[in-house]
Amino acid sequence: MNATKPLQYPPLHAESPFELRGNWGQTVPESDVREALATGEMGFLHSFTTGSAVDGPGVRVVAWTTGCQFRCLYCHNPDTWNLDHGIPVTLERATEELRKYRHGLKVMSGGFTLSGGEPLMQDRFAVKLFAAARTMGIHTALDTNGSLGNRLSDAELDTISLVLLDIKCWNPEVHERLTRMEVRPVLDFARRLASRHKPVWLRYVLVPDLTDNPLDIAPLAKFAAELGNVERVDILPFHQLGEFKWKELKLNYKLQGVQPPPPEIIAMAREQFRSQGLNAY
Ligand code: SF4
Repeated sequence: MNATKPLQYPPLHAESPFELRGNWGQTVPESDVREALATGEMGFLHSFTTGSAVDGPGVRVVAWTTGCQFRCLYCHNPDTWNLDHGIPVTLERATEELRKYRHGLKVMSGGFTLSGGEPLMQDRFAVKLFAAARTMGIHTALDTNGSLGNRLSDAELDTISLVLLDIKCWNPEVHERLTRMEVRPVLDFARRLASRHKPVWLRYVLVPDLTDNPLDIAPLAKFAAELGNVERVDILPFHQLGEFKWKELKLNYKLQGVQPPPPEIIAMAREQFRSQGLNAY
């Protein structure tokens, strides 16, 4: 008789989200995946990382979800695009993982950030994990591309302390070329967050010849300032740290050889947001 060996998943904790992870979720039957998405009792995670100082205020524990409907040309985590690339993790286990860091996070005025991938591809899991974090008194942040914001009710939004909203580009044409998706739902979500006075940190990846056009940045800066709830803007200079993943996954990487933006271009973009009265870094 063939004895089936239990699957050995990699450790949930990773040194960094730049670790390339495999097709762990493919072992989960489709009906279980459907149930997980409907109930949120199980999620699919690339990893948990600790010690981040850039994914919200203070020191953050970050859970990186898998599944994303965008296909950003500069994505440094393409191994998170497919849901089934993630490690299946029960809500209970994810909550326990978070509980380990509860005291340290409070001491360091930090919190828990759900990133990805696009966390709202697993909206029920996200909502339940945020609720668990809030019950433990942990500050919560959602790092999102914003296009699935309508999956959250107003009450669910209230369990999130801060939204890190990635707006990829103001120009609809460039946005579609860059992500394969429309910018409109992202801007609608930004407006909804503003109407609910939800604190937002806006993130903008600056890529030479793609998102560094001052004519596209100016209207975005004006829009962000008028929202009234954008507490800070982070200009994130493009880098090549994710390139090896595209190669490993045999994906067609179109930004090969593109250099990070020079300091003066970063400063200029930052100044465009600052000139609208925003705190831009
Ligand atoms: S939204 Fe984020 S995870 Fe999704 S493709 Fe873009 S950069 Fe990658």
